[in-house]
Amino acid sequence: MSITGKVVLVTGAGQGIGRGIALRLAHDGADIALVDLDQTKLDAVADEIRQIGRRATTFIADVSDRAQVHAAVEHAHSELSGFDVIVNNAGIALVGPISDATPEEVSKIWSVNVDGVLWGIQAAAAKFQALGQRGKIINASSIAGHDGFAMLGVYSATKFAVRALTQAAAKEYASDGITVNAYCPGVVGTDMWVTIDKRFAELTGAPEGATYEKFVGGIALGRAETPDDVAGFVSYLAGPDSDYMTGQAGLIDGGLVYR
Ligand code: ADP
Repeated sequence: MSITGKVVLVTGAGQGIGRGIALRLAHDGADIALVDLDQTKLDAVADEIRQIGRRATTFIADVSDRAQVHAAVEHAHSELSGFDVIVNNAGIALVGPISDATPEEVSKIWSVNVDGVLWGIQAAAAKFQALGQRGKIINASSIAGHDGFAMLGVYSATKFAVRALTQAAAKEYASDGITVNAYCPGVVGTDMWVTIDKRFAELTGAPEGATYEKFVGGIALGRAETPDDVAGFVSYLAGPDSDYMTGQAGLIDGGLVYR
């Protein structure tokens, strides 16, 4: 397989899309460094990866902390004897009208979704450069990084920012043989969407589940997205078939027409 033996670090790998990406890349032959905030969740995913027959290592890091992200990259390299790909996947949501956003909320989501990706880009690129090798950086944007969604304005802003970092980093690191791309999921039925739906219900009086169903009803392909739907595209971005692609932010949203 094309990514057999590659070492991939995935942030936010304890559940949801990050877990799906980690498992898919392991199935495709990669060894995985799993990074998240919760050791119990990471241990469970690491066990699943070992059952697939690949190596896994875990590291607790808050991606909003630059030093912790650099330490995570060092851990991946030393434990798995290599470092080829980083997937800057960790993220959080914020639901609410722009008029209600507080400085604390905005700082928090920005520090995870944008700073976290920035530190991941920096740490990975520095490591690839130090090793004198090519590498791939893959960042989590969103359909909300292509369109500003009502009640998700600050979240959307963070995901637009990830696209900006992806484009700029692609240009800055191209001469080092480092590619930088992003994936942009639509409506994925993870805990994040449970949180988003509940918050919409609190704020708008909509019944619980109604907002999720409304968004899913706007998907041209007629069903919610799964982590596996995202992971297949990330596997492509991690592998040699995407070697000539850089600076792109691919939508994988089932043709979401409701916005
Ligand atoms: P998604 O739909 O993106 O998969 P989830 O909320 O299900 O959403 O998963 C996001 C993952 O990112 C969780 O495992 C969460 O613990 C992780 N995460 C969130 N914030 C951070 C952070 N600051 N540092 C590391 N991991 C984080």
